[in-house]
Amino acid sequence: MASFRGLRLVFTVCCVCVLAAEAKYMVYNTSGGIVPGKLNVHLVPHSHDDVGWLKTIDQYYVGSNNSIQVACVQNVLDSLIPALLADKNRKFIFAEQAFFQRWWRDQSEGMKITVKMLVNSGQLEFINGGMCMHDEATTHYIDMIDQTTLGHRFLKEDFNVTPRVGWQIDPFGHSAVQAYLLGAEVGFDSLFFARIDYQDRAKRSSDKTLEVIWQGSKSRGSSSQIFTGAFYAGNYEPPTGFYYEFDSDSPVVQDDMDLFDYNVQERVSDFVAAAISQANVTRSNHIMWTMGTDFNYQYAHTWFRNMDKLIHYVNQDGRVNALYSTPSIYTDTKYDLYESWPLKTEDYFPYADRENSYWTGYFTSRPALKGYVRTMSGYYLVARQLEFFSGRKELGPTTDSLADALAIVQHHDAVTGTEQQHVANDYAKRLSIGYKESEEVVATALGCMTQASTSECKSLATKFMQANAPELSCPLMNISYCPATEVDLSRGKKLAVLVYNPLGWKRTEIVRIPVVNENVNVRDAAGQLILSQLIPIVNASIANTKFYASAYLGKSSNVSPKYWLAFTAVVPPLGFSSYVISSDKLGASVLSKQLLYTFEWSQSSPIEIGSGSLKLVHSGINGKLMHYINSRSMVNISLEQSYSYFTGYDRSADYQASGAYVFRPNGSFPVLSEEKVPLTVFRGPLFDEVHQMINSWIYQITRVYKEMEHVEFEFEVGPIPIDDGFGKEIVTRIKSKIGNNKIFYTDSNGRDFLERIRDHRTDWDLQVNQPIAGNYYPINLGAYIKDENSELSVLVDRSVGGSSIDDGELEIMLHRRLLYDDSRGVAEALNETVCIEKKCLGLTIQGKYYVRIDPLGEGSKWRRSFGQEIYSPFILAFSEQDDEWTNFPTHTFSAVDPSYSLPNNVAIITLQELENGNVLFRLAHLFEVGEDKDLSVMATVDLKRVFANKKINKVKEMSLSANQERDEMEKKRLSWKVEGSNTNERKVLRGGPVDPVKLAVELSPMEIRTFIIEFN
Ligand SMILES: [Zn+2]
Repeated sequence: MASFRGLRLVFTVCCVCVLAAEAKYMVYNTSGGIVPGKLNVHLVPHSHDDVGWLKTIDQYYVGSNNSIQVACVQNVLDSLIPALLADKNRKFIFAEQAFFQRWWRDQSEGMKITVKMLVNSGQLEFINGGMCMHDEATTHYIDMIDQTTLGHRFLKEDFNVTPRVGWQIDPFGHSAVQAYLLGAEVGFDSLFFARIDYQDRAKRSSDKTLEVIWQGSKSRGSSSQIFTGAFYAGNYEPPTGFYYEFDSDSPVVQDDMDLFDYNVQERVSDFVAAAISQANVTRSNHIMWTMGTDFNYQYAHTWFRNMDKLIHYVNQDGRVNALYSTPSIYTDTKYDLYESWPLKTEDYFPYADRENSYWTGYFTSRPALKGYVRTMSGYYLVARQLEFFSGRKELGPTTDSLADALAIVQHHDAVTGTEQQHVANDYAKRLSIGYKESEEVVATALGCMTQASTSECKSLATKFMQANAPELSCPLMNISYCPATEVDLSRGKKLAVLVYNPLGWKRTEIVRIPVVNENVNVRDAAGQLILSQLIPIVNASIANTKFYASAYLGKSSNVSPKYWLAFTAVVPPLGFSSYVISSDKLGASVLSKQLLYTFEWSQSSPIEIGSGSLKLVHSGINGKLMHYINSRSMVNISLEQSYSYFTGYDRSADYQASGAYVFRPNGSFPVLSEEKVPLTVFRGPLFDEVHQMINSWIYQITRVYKEMEHVEFEFEVGPIPIDDGFGKEIVTRIKSKIGNNKIFYTDSNGRDFLERIRDHRTDWDLQVNQPIAGNYYPINLGAYIKDENSELSVLVDRSVGGSSIDDGELEIMLHRRLLYDDSRGVAEALNETVCIEKKCLGLTIQGKYYVRIDPLGEGSKWRRSFGQEIYSPFILAFSEQDDEWTNFPTHTFSAVDPSYSLPNNVAIITLQELENGNVLFRLAHLFEVGEDKDLSVMATVDLKRVFANKKINKVKEMSLSANQERDEMEKKRLSWKVEGSNTNERKVLRGGPVDPVKLAVELSPMEIRTFIIEFN
């Protein structure tokens, strides 16, 4: 019995399963494409994978540290492939190549073949294609190009694909440079993103202008425009209720009638309603739904299962049409409509997601990291040049690890300063590792180039380096820590200094190095004594050096350098000069004359600084800067400079604190000196310096060079005090009498300058609710104001935020220390500290900015050429010498023809030997149309003379990211129509094709041209 009953039970159970399987197995019809005449809902499956934010990039990839955030990109890619294979209509887009490359390296040959098949069939599309989704406010255009090139070239080499669409869905506002350079010039047909100002979005929704043709550059005009779509809900997520991550709480599509909670009609109706509300603000009957969000598709099947059902039942219902799609397909349908689209110019900054929530704090957040990124960016450019001159070493060291680190740190939660502290540390660590390896490349190359002939290079290089390395270990030279220069020269030793100039024109600049001896002199390569100046290193600076050297390196030097030694270096284009420092009284450096002004009682006469054409006048009563006088240009204008701070809002009002992203000031306060600020003046033959201890946490040096016409402000700010319970954001203000009438100019990623009008937006009627934060703009190169007589320019050494809040003024935010999280996800207050064991202090930052006043129309020459020199400073290398004279035969070098120099309006922004021995070469015209009367003109670069020692075999012009030939890109590119007649547009100039015999490259204003050069 027992056995009989058992049998029957088994039979019954089986019966049920068979019946059930037969009855319920459903094939969902996902095959229908676009249906003309219907509202088409393009479902675009995607995962937004931050290349570091709350966790580091590697933690996100492997899925560790899940107590912070459950996220594992490896799971996304692992589960995605079978999900795509299960139905050929399913599609997916993937953006971040830094993650994809990590995964790709681990795959079997079989898996690689499968993935390539999915890519070829269009089921898996690489979108954007850079290593990360870079930020657009705090990034420099050269870094944006480099990181995009790195991703794009990998995709070209491994998959033979060129991404078609820009996908900048999360960055916090969007730059003009993104539109025309990183969009149109890389060959993208469209660009999509989520975050634009909430007022702008409301206006664009109401007049159906979320989708536009964007012309980012006045100079490049319609030649570099791109179809651009801002998402309608202001995020990159699906409509509410359609989230299908395995742990989402949206109602799944339950279509099993045998189970409770069947909801097909309900879900279909919700779908149709959401589609119609989006269609109401969108032109044409095509809308896009971004099906995914941060780190979604960790179990890809839940998303696809629900989307399969939605497509099936929604299309059965028939009111609207749903389909699996990609932004490329969506773009093509928009293009095929052949409608014309509204025109958008300028940019999408600043971004506010609601009232009182302007994301303008991150323009300055983590200024030390931002400074480090900029320094490394300039260094990477140098290291690649030198790697090319001495020959890329197959077995390393190479510049590749620095390339990788720099690429990742351009991410929109990296250089922005909006990541958690441990993640910021991870980025800095990667940069430091990359720097170390590149430093070896640089040291070896310079060592080798100082040999008699470069043919000896490859064999001698290593030996030379070990025997007599021109050490470059001075990344902390800004705080006067540089063991390489701390040689005691009093015992007959000498120090050779190699000064390398990465720019294509000859430069004459002051070089400064810390030294320990007083009686030193400097000789040039010909053995001639040259004028040099010593400035004592002040005590405040020595204390900082010791603390930071110990905190960063775990040690500090035994000897403290006593002086800065300064001399004038003259360096040929793309080359070096060498100088020798030794100790004897003959022709010794001039010790700066030190004068102290204490203002204990009123002094009558003003204090004048500067021995060249530029003079600054400080008040004899309180030491404050009063006047700027340039006897050459006849500019004579009153000028003040001061520090202020904003106290950061706490969360008491509408829960919006000032934080890593958001700048929400609660009143502005001048930094008052704790007592009358004494002023110490150092005068010397090369430059004068004014030292001021503004208060216990701001130290400033104002420098005026004899041969230059700008003022250099060097600042140390920190530790910002917080013991009063308030976070603070420190700004410096430059005040003049220039009547700029609310108008000021800030750069876009270090390239085009855009006009800003206080309390005004070009695209809508601005409701002003944050008169300071809402007028802040990102600055990477500089800002200026002007009136009918003069222009006042400020240039910066890293990304900062700034504005002109009152007429005549420019202000730059230098540092921020805040006590509350601003509720945008990072979940930490921006309160950077630096610790030695248990002793932690608020982070002190050090940096420079530069100010110059010119007669109207004459400022751009300085902004552009000196701006390029700030980006590409001289690189110094040192070597101790025992000999009578130096023990290397080549004392000066230039890669270009000795009688040649690049035109003043052109910079080499890439010179890089690729793995196959070819060279990636980029030239950038530095001026906009109409910016300068002499330099906003077509420029010509003679390649034969740039590569004087090489024979060029072939030159191929490429797209900006060098993943396709320029001609090919131009042929494929969609040409969009703009509403209204555009016939008045000035013809956009472009340099002509490069003649293979003449090899002359023409560049028109703001043009960047990219080449692959093959040498014999
Ligand atoms: Zn993101």
